[in-house]
Amino acid sequence: MSHVLAAVAWPYANGPRHIGHVSGFGVPSDVFSRYMRMAGHDVLMVSGTDEHGTPIQVQADADGVTPRQLADRYNRVIVEDLHGLGLSYDLFTRTTTRNHYAIVQELFEGLHRNGYIVARTTLGAISPSTGRTLPDRYIEGTCPICGYDGARGDQCDNCGNQLDPEQLVNPRSRINGETPQFVETEHFFLDLPAFAEAIGGWLDRRENWRPNVLKFSRNLLDDLQPRAITRDLEWGVPIPLDGWRDRADKRIYVWFDAVIGYLSASVEWARRTGDPEAWRQWWSADAQGKDALGYYFMGKDNIVFHSVIWPALLLGYSGEGDKAGAPGDLGKLNLPTEVVSSEYLTMEGKKFSSSRRVVIYVRDFLERYDADALRYFIAAAGPESNDTDFTWAEFVRRNNDELVAGWGNLVNRSISMAAKNFGEIPAAGELTDEDRAVLAVAKTGFTTVGELIGKHRQKAAIGEAMRVVAEANKYLSEQAPWKLKSDEDKPRQATVLHVALQVVSDANTLLTPFLPHSAQKVFELLGGVGVHAPMPRIEEVEDLDGGPSYPILTGDYTVGARWESVPLVAGTPLAAPKPVFRKLDPSVVEEELARLGGDES
Ligand SMILES: [Zn+2]
Repeated sequence: MSHVLAAVAWPYANGPRHIGHVSGFGVPSDVFSRYMRMAGHDVLMVSGTDEHGTPIQVQADADGVTPRQLADRYNRVIVEDLHGLGLSYDLFTRTTTRNHYAIVQELFEGLHRNGYIVARTTLGAISPSTGRTLPDRYIEGTCPICGYDGARGDQCDNCGNQLDPEQLVNPRSRINGETPQFVETEHFFLDLPAFAEAIGGWLDRRENWRPNVLKFSRNLLDDLQPRAITRDLEWGVPIPLDGWRDRADKRIYVWFDAVIGYLSASVEWARRTGDPEAWRQWWSADAQGKDALGYYFMGKDNIVFHSVIWPALLLGYSGEGDKAGAPGDLGKLNLPTEVVSSEYLTMEGKKFSSSRRVVIYVRDFLERYDADALRYFIAAAGPESNDTDFTWAEFVRRNNDELVAGWGNLVNRSISMAAKNFGEIPAAGELTDEDRAVLAVAKTGFTTVGELIGKHRQKAAIGEAMRVVAEANKYLSEQAPWKLKSDEDKPRQATVLHVALQVVSDANTLLTPFLPHSAQKVFELLGGVGVHAPMPRIEEVEDLDGGPSYPILTGDYTVGARWESVPLVAGTPLAAPKPVFRKLDPSVVEEELARLGGDES
């Protein structure tokens, strides 16, 4: 048994999340965490909203609110969305907590002390008419990389590359259109080349990574440059050095602060449990007795931050780059065990786009459909290792043909037959070869499905679980217990139904990481009492260090089913079941397509 950190990418708090956001890493990280807990590991699943940086400042300016007010609004929306999907975070927090600021500054100071953060003179923009600093977000121009006219001084939204304002072709002020003047100013840089060797050695020792992630990461090492970690911006974490701390115009760059969230959220979680040092069990190489494994879940556009930059920060803080050094107060920190990157989800053949209305937000989805219907689609057909298209027709088809007609039908007919004929789980008599065969298929599922989830092959894993369902449906059709009604046949009917219900119970456990909401219902239909699949709750908490209160996601996941077959107890009362899944009318396809924006905009 190990300590398993599930570190899930931080959603940016500038709007509600659409299903593309949660398909790549939100739901898969929850499936993984639920399985690992059921298998007996100590899982710590953390994330939060990423709330600093230029885009939030720009949007807040446009909306006439402060960046904090904008972040407050979307932090709450995102917390509710993730709660609705049943994502079992031990802590889902945010980057505007005082705890996060303190941990970010601690890492900055440790890296600086060890010589991995260097000051450099760069060109900063000022407004010629006022003589004041012109923050990056107020400069736009043509992207030198892709030619997009509308790139900002820190990033091109078209190609995603990070930029410096002076790289823009035809730079101009967004305030009054004037051409900014570039003057020398000081910024801090992370000395990434000092980690090339250490990261290369670490990547060489990685096993089981998706090959494209490993190859992409290795290639990044060939051209490492020092990377700016401060910015001309007022919204962000202050720079914790004398002479800089109180400057209102310079802040730590948002990517540097956000990636540290995995650590700060772990510390916050520990502080909230009353054992402030507990986080170390998931982060410290010296942890006694148990392994400490770290799995990081993200979309493929974020690989560089998790396979190169985050390891560089951890190595530098631990004093393990080219310049050596000593660990700071947090001690030596573990590097990721695995970087699990997903591909992209598209919608009806197009990129998700809020402005063009090629989108369905999680909230709207959950108002019209069940969370498990979406979770099923994501597991069975999500962007695990290829870019994947979400279509409403395929969503309805999978819901109706697989979830309702396959799994739901098996649950419904086996339980209703047993309820009608016995009113309880009947006792089994002597088993035939057919009985033993279908029970064995279900039992084997615990090995095959578990191993596949452990290797992040969830598509294959749910396929194996659904194969158990198909075998059970076949068994029922062949044994036809509805025909075994005579007094003479009754004992055989009891045996067949007992076996069928046992396989339903096992298949339900196999499907629990994927479909936790319906798994709880099936468990109860089989006469189970208590928690089978624990759920997260939203809790309004005080900032631990005196900041404003905020909502978190958390939960008690120590309860619930284990990853094993639990023998059903004959005589457990059964009632006629209510359907667990909803069949969707094919007309919803056209309704949903009509909601999508057209091509003209
Ligand atoms: Zn560009």
